Amino acid sequence: MTQQLSTDVVIIGAGIAGLWLHNRLNQMGFHALLLENKTIGNAQTLSSQGIIHGGAKYALNGIFSTATQAIGAMPARWQACLDGTGDVDLTKVKVLADHQLLWSKQQLSSKMMSFFASKALSSRMETVAKADRPKLFQHPEFKGSLYQLNEPVLDVTSVLTSLAQPWQDRIVQIPESRELSWQKNSDGVQSIQLDNDITIQAQHFVLTAGEGNEALLNSLGIKKPAMQRRPLQMVLCKAKDHQQPLPAIYAHSLGTGSKPIATITSHFAEDGNVIWYIGGNIAEQGVGQSFTEITTEAQKLLTEILPWFELPELEWATHSVNRAEPKQFALSRPDTAFIESKNNVHIAWPTKLALAPDLADTVIAKLTKQNLQAGKHNAPMTLPSAIMGQTLWDSVFK
Ligand SMILES: Cc1cc2nc3c(=O)[nH]c(=O)nc-3n(C[C@H](O)[C@H](O)[C@H](O)COP(=O)(O)OP(=O)(O)OC[C@H]3O[C@@H](n4cnc5c(N)ncnc54)[C@H](O)[C@@H]3O)c2cc1C
Repeated sequence: MTQQLSTDVVIIGAGIAGLWLHNRLNQMGFHALLLENKTIGNAQTLSSQGIIHGGAKYALNGIFSTATQAIGAMPARWQACLDGTGDVDLTKVKVLADHQLLWSKQQLSSKMMSFFASKALSSRMETVAKADRPKLFQHPEFKGSLYQLNEPVLDVTSVLTSLAQPWQDRIVQIPESRELSWQKNSDGVQSIQLDNDITIQAQHFVLTAGEGNEALLNSLGIKKPAMQRRPLQMVLCKAKDHQQPLPAIYAHSLGTGSKPIATITSHFAEDGNVIWYIGGNIAEQGVGQSFTEITTEAQKLLTEILPWFELPELEWATHSVNRAEPKQFALSRPDTAFIESKNNVHIAWPTKLALAPDLADTVIAKLTKQNLQAGKHNAPMTLPSAIMGQTLWDSVFK
């Protein structure tokens, strides 16, 4: 017997994009069902550094691009949610740092300093007075520049938990082994079918499956939008002696180029040890390198960017992951959250964790314009609830 379920909106993929949208739609009185085929957040979202960018990182070339403008409002949007006055309740989220640091070994060029002091950036960027510097940067041999960027870094698991918990019974796991097929008519998709035993009918279908959107689009016969993957090999390290941990820092190391040489965020293993999670150029250029090549490079890099700091003996790990995005010319970085609709199927990639609120706004505006109604639904689920994915912090060092 086929079980017939109905809901207002089916969302496929429980990363940050799917969860944020799911939380908002249910809160607005619609019935939205989120389908996940692995674990919540397992792909890009739990690989992310948790930085709520406001765009300054993309303006290091001195130009306020579309990227900078689109993302500029995001830290305030997230802050309102952290304070309990935003679209979603993030009051229980663990804030790892309320700001990030930017440092350069040498004094920054006068052009860069006046750009940081310009009207566009001065509300977000402050120089750090010597007395206020964190211990790592108080060393007399540090003679460079240190700035504070007022954008927070969040513990991503606690973000996902806050979004998922209120609507847990509407977030279900569909094992990868189940065959998913679409039932269509001339107006678009009517329902999806799992094997031959469950049919889920909905007014709209939103694809927020990250890298999984590609296979979903193929199964729907949709050729455009196409997807691109931009791979990264992230590097992680921690002190071998967990009694003498690395200092917890959230900082970008600046060189002369328009991208940070390295972006370091700090996370905590179960034994309390501090893990440095290193992205930036090294993670982009290290794609395809062997473990020994990239970790040797990373050790050298840390010695170069923090020459005054005596690194403890370190244990290393790496994590390879693809960023999944709408296809761009020459594999460049997309500037904004992306959403395109084919009738009642909506294909979405946030392109940044920070842009999830913006993506949800756009999808909701589209659904409302297409006359989404809070309809009748029957939801007694025979499918299990999806569970939270694991963080990298303990699993990658095994
Ligand atoms: C290393 C790294 C660091 C980053 N750091 C930051 C940062 O600090 N700040 C920032 O703003 N952005 C950052 N980003 C970007 C950000 O992480 C991503 O843009 C964002 O997490 C994408 O979210 P998503 O929900 O679209 O996709 P994902 O997080 O990839 O989630 C997709 C979900 O869909 C599920 N799925 C796939 N196929 C199916 C299917 N067929 N059926 C059901 N479920 C399916 C997957 O299992 C997964 O749970 C970073 C990205 C990377 C890779």
